[in-house]
Amino acid sequence: MMIIIRVPDFCLLVGTLLWKISQENSLVNCPECVARERKAVIERETASGNQEGVQKLLEEIEIPMKFDPVTKHYICKRCGLYATREQVGDIRERVNRRDPTREDKHDDYLDWWQKSKKDKI
Ligand SMILES: [Zn+2]
Repeated sequence: MMIIIRVPDFCLLVGTLLWKISQENSLVNCPECVARERKAVIERETASGNQEGVQKLLEEIEIPMKFDPVTKHYICKRCGLYATREQVGDIRERVNRRDPTREDKHDDYLDWWQKSKKDKI
């Protein structure tokens, strides 16, 4: 008697489906707006001397992007950022890496962002 259950395939399928669902339904915050908001909170709280609550406030920042299932892109209604999940992750990394003292200078990120903007038109 032989029972063949191809568990690995099944798990992979379910895993992929779950991954897809969680990818598309999970809240994606706009990295640009979150960074801006974080900066504003830090400045405001530092100015008012209320530094203890800053971390909590920073964690509460949520600027969810809208997912467009047709184009598979996330859209930020605030700043107009339009990107795939991968691009959002990429931007978040770049934003986090960005040196705050050099943020007004022309950098790779700006180049990349402006170029990607042009590509959309
Ligand atoms: Zn935004």
